[in-house]
Amino acid sequence: MPYANRPVDKDCVFCRIVAGAIPCARVYEDENILAFLDIQPIAPGHTLAILKGHYPTLLEVPPREAEGLFIALKKVAAAQLKVLGAGGFHCLQNNFPLAGQTVFHAHWHLIPRAAGDGLALWPGQAYESDKRMREVAEALHSHITAGRCGGQDE
Ligand code: 5GP
Ligand code: ZN
Repeated sequence: MPYANRPVDKDCVFCRIVAGAIPCARVYEDENILAFLDIQPIAPGHTLAILKGHYPTLLEVPPREAEGLFIALKKVAAAQLKVLGAGGFHCLQNNFPLAGQTVFHAHWHLIPRAAGDGLALWPGQAYESDKRMREVAEALHSHITAGRCGGQDE
């Protein structure tokens, strides 16, 4: 999308980084994407990838942006593995304050992992029963297939 037509929020810190008003440690850039080091990394090389357009959460991101984003995420992650010697990486994305989102310009965290780095994520817990698990899946599936997820096809 041409720069002039992109949504922008002048008060958004990531829009200000895109505009060059705030510096960043750039890792990757193309016409629609910018990736730069997180200022408070969970691990060295922790990178944020953003669309240059201002979309507050994943729900506002137009699907047409997905391919370019995916290509960029793969480039950065592959570089983390090769250049930093990471043994793995997380690709995480927080949406809404309850999920820890603090910057309301959708962004993807690429966090390199090293053996013995001590990071502990995913405090997983089984459902109380298989029946409950199926009920949750069925409720979500019904909602989605009834076309009640606004914006999913835009
Ligand atoms: P969230 O919690 O919203 O998923 O992640 C926001 C991330 O943006 C945080 O990890 C935070 O360290 C990072 N961040 C916030 N402000 C800036 C900034 O001005 N520059 C950079 N490089 N990262 C930032
Ligand atoms: Zn923004």
